[in-house]
Order: sequence, then C-alpha cells, then structure tokens
Amino acid sequence: MAQKKIPSRQCIGCMTSRPKKELVRVVRAPSGEISIDLVGKKPGRGAYLCPSLDCLTKAKKKKALERCFEQPVPAEVYEALAAQLAEAAKEAANGKEE
Ligand SMILES: [Zn+2]
Repeated sequence: MAQKKIPSRQCIGCMTSRPKKELVRVVRAPSGEISIDLVGKKPGRGAYLCPSLDCLTKAKKKKALERCFEQPVPAEVYEALAAQLAEAAKEAANGKEE
C-alpha cells in the first residue's frame, strides 16, 4: 500500500494518533478563552481530541488540557467543551459520506 503523508495528531485523551481531520481541535485563544475549533483555523494553541466524550473525560482526569495549555481549565470549560463535542460528533455522524 502506498503511504500518503496524512497529517496526524495525537488525541490528548486516549493518546491515539489519528488523521488530523478525524480529530476535534480544542484551541486556547490568545485571550485565554478555550473553545472547540470546528473550522480548524482559530488562532491560538491547539490540542486534539477524538470526537468522543470518553476522550474528553480521560483528558479531564489526566488534566491533559491544563498541561497542554499551561493554565487551569475550569469545570465549566469542560462542560462547554462536552456540549460542543457532542454537537461535533452529531455532525460527524450526519455528514458521513461514502
Ligand atoms: Zn481519543
């Protein structure tokens, strides 16, 4: 099989490397605001998660986001991320093409 260069990133929850487009980007804006970047173009420092609440939960347990962003991540941020992640997962499921 020919190996194409696909940019891959590691999920901060389950630590699995996956193609970048299969992951959800969490971004910390220069202002310190943390949100999910559905477009992949928000400025700031990024972390990647599988579109799965399990991985967000794992990341939370490990404080992976805190480590990645080098700042405390309040519980409400995790809640907002969980909501956005659920949306993203829904979209991913709906947008499945052959
Ligand atoms: Zn994961």
